Amino acid sequence: MARHAQCECGSFQMVVDGEPVFWGLCSCLSCQRRSGSIVGAAALFSKDGVSVVSGQYKTFVRTGDTGGKLHQRFCPECGTTLSWDPDYVPGFRVVAIGWFADPTFPTPQVAQYERSRHPWFTLPKDLPTFQADASPDEISAVLTKC
Ligand SMILES: [Zn+2]
Ligand SMILES: [Zn+2]
Repeated sequence: MARHAQCECGSFQMVVDGEPVFWGLCSCLSCQRRSGSIVGAAALFSKDGVSVVSGQYKTFVRTGDTGGKLHQRFCPECGTTLSWDPDYVPGFRVVAIGWFADPTFPTPQVAQYERSRHPWFTLPKDLPTFQADASPDEISAVLTKC
């Protein structure tokens, strides 16, 4: 399934083909600052399926809590962060879910950074949670139970 995604002003657009490897919520303080919201919502896709169809972007590189670099792409016109490449998961690209503007997007599979979640923001019942980043092994264990 191909999904269309665009920044708020519409100048930067991408097509994302295929289903996400997994997707989840993140309450880390960087996701809160990046998104301007209280939680980040993002999906991991195979990099081959994500292509730019129009517009320009700038890249901001930040270092994650575990020392890896994230290369975050944002629209220079409206500032929307659209996607990012974590260098510790080569071959995959993370796409911000809000960018699809699709309320029918599936329910998340994990929630990370419980330690900085706003306490009034409640999660779907039975959603697996992690106090900080989930390791690839922990994510795999969650996915095999789905
Ligand atoms: Zn834009
Ligand atoms: Zn985060």
